[in-house]
Amino acid sequence: MDTYGAPLRDMRFILDHLVGIDSIAALPGCEAAEPELVYSILEEADKFAAGVLAPINKSGDLQGCRLDGDRVVVPYGWQEAWDQFVAGGWLGLSLPEQYGGQGLPKALWAPVWEMWFSANLAFTMLPQLTLGQTEALDVAADEAMKALYLPRIVSGEWACNMSLTEPQAGSDLAAVRMRAEAAADGSYRLFGQKIFISYGDHELTDNIVHLVLARLPDAPAGIKGISLFLVPKFLVNADGSLGAKNDVRAVSLEHKMGIHGSPTCTMAYGDQGGAVGYLVGELNRGIEYMFVMMNEARFGVSLHGVALAERAYQMALRYANERSQGKVAGEAGRPIAGHPDVKRQLLAMRTRIFAMRALVYPAAAWFDQARHHPSPEAAARSRRYIDLLMPVLKGWNTETGNLVCDDAIQVFGGMGFVEETGVAQHYRDGRVTRIYEGTTGIQANDLVSRKILRENGATLRELVAEIRADVAALADVRELAGHAKALAANVDDLERATDFLLANGSSDPATVQAAAVPFLHLAGLVCAGWRVAQAARAAQGGLAAAASAGAAAATGAAGVAGVAAAAGAAGAAESAPAGAPGAGAEDAGYLRGVLALASFWFATYAPQVRGHADTVAASACVGLAPDTALWA
Ligand SMILES: Cc1cc2nc3c(=O)[nH]c(=O)nc-3n(C[C@H](O)[C@H](O)[C@H](O)COP(=O)(O)OP(=O)(O)OC[C@H]3O[C@@H](n4cnc5c(N)ncnc54)[C@H](O)[C@@H]3O)c2cc1C
Repeated sequence: MDTYGAPLRDMRFILDHLVGIDSIAALPGCEAAEPELVYSILEEADKFAAGVLAPINKSGDLQGCRLDGDRVVVPYGWQEAWDQFVAGGWLGLSLPEQYGGQGLPKALWAPVWEMWFSANLAFTMLPQLTLGQTEALDVAADEAMKALYLPRIVSGEWACNMSLTEPQAGSDLAAVRMRAEAAADGSYRLFGQKIFISYGDHELTDNIVHLVLARLPDAPAGIKGISLFLVPKFLVNADGSLGAKNDVRAVSLEHKMGIHGSPTCTMAYGDQGGAVGYLVGELNRGIEYMFVMMNEARFGVSLHGVALAERAYQMALRYANERSQGKVAGEAGRPIAGHPDVKRQLLAMRTRIFAMRALVYPAAAWFDQARHHPSPEAAARSRRYIDLLMPVLKGWNTETGNLVCDDAIQVFGGMGFVEETGVAQHYRDGRVTRIYEGTTGIQANDLVSRKILRENGATLRELVAEIRADVAALADVRELAGHAKALAANVDDLERATDFLLANGSSDPATVQAAAVPFLHLAGLVCAGWRVAQAARAAQGGLAAAASAGAAAATGAAGVAGVAAAAGAAGAAESAPAGAPGAGAEDAGYLRGVLALASFWFATYAPQVRGHADTVAASACVGLAPDTALWA
């Protein structure tokens, strides 16, 4: 059975020790993130994910979406799930309070939305679109447009989509051709076609708000001539009531390898005289506003990587403990999880999931710090870090998430390749995460060109200095000195590769572009390794504190509750109430598990950094390869 349960213990461990959720709650405007409230929200979200969204994931995959005349029909159960999602307040969790949301911090948003993506990615893409669009309208729209649209979007009464891609304009949005013509009443008429539009049409909500990139006939060429327009499916009267159907419709649905429950539409605008659209913000600044949406969406997609990997891992672990094959340590009838190679794969999956999550949750906290930190310097630093690492979060997490889903199929053997077991769905669903919101190649170009070369590596060096400070602290912990050494070598390799980019950026841009994806992998491994090292230090500290509390207990000074408190281990109190037999041992077991993941990371993934750094340095071989090298 493909059931899902949120990994609450890991989530709490990372929130407690890497994010420092109490420090987020201390930020002005984030007081609601008080840890106990956060943890009860996570428990409720787990119930919703497991009880409402996960059970319709497979049926949604099997049924898919269809075009029935003019109607886009989504899978059975989607309407009920949407209604419950909205009624439960989940849509507005992190959306601005002035439009009816709850304004809770991004550090809480991240684990909650990870659960939705794990439980049912195809469904959750719909509410995810609301987040980016709210942000873009909040930044760019005038007050009248905000007042008319945003409360209805945030409440879930109306849904959203983002309409950027055209057949000739995918990665290169400068090539957008959709035409917008000014009308006498100050609105615009839009003409053209968009492809690949997620939730371009459906009947889950009363109205759909399309944010569309288009250009005026006399606009400058390229990205400087692109504007952003709001095109409602049904025209909206001044009082918010709905008027006539607008001239926009889905003309076909894509047949995809995954996320079948998400309708990916080809949309026609203006077939019957022009789709009514309204300019968002200023003319010719559409790309800038679109990036507000894109950044929100990219961060969400970085969580897709973790989420699908987690779902696939849970299945693989269950299967490996049920299936027996051959003899394990000379004994027949024992589960395949005991075979060293299967155990290795399970460890590899769990370690990378832990690392991805440890990378992305503290990045979510950077958003909160950037917005709410009282010190302008600290807020600006967090903003710089998010900007720098956004392409790494999106690119590395989705690449790694795909690898983990692939490993899950291997653990299943032939039963992974057939559809009945369900694990193949996560692999299929996850494949697109490396493509939409900018392919890995586009993320890597962004990292290298805009985030590193343009500022001469300044923010990266700032981050490296922080990592080095943590290396020094790690080296002081006797048990973790080996990890400190490995991380220090990784950081040296990151700096060496950065120096290579900086040295060749202007003289040999082709080589630098060829180096971009290997560099992104290298940066992902180093940053994730940094977080894994922090987790190891927290776990080692917890064990040491537990040991001294245990020694005190032996003299009657502290009990199991003292062990749990000292360890600060996520889930300790909840999974084993203080005083329960074996509670202390279970907590220590969890912390030792974290240390084992860190050891696996530094044995297996840290050494890969050198290889990527060497590849970066040798990237000229791509340009030097003659065309004959590509001949079949
Ligand atoms: C399921 C699905 C849902 C989607 N949802 C939406 C949506 O809701 N709204 C929307 O507007 N779009 C959506 N898209 C479109 C998506 O954003 C694009 O597919 C994506 O940006 C890539 O564009 P493309 O498919 O045209 O590929 P191309 O741009 O043609 O890229 C093909 C290959 O060339 C590489 N490449 C291209 N340019 C460069 C470069 N400059 N440097 C290095 N490599 C390069 C790419 O990395 C890729 O490997 C969706 C796509 C899919 C598959």
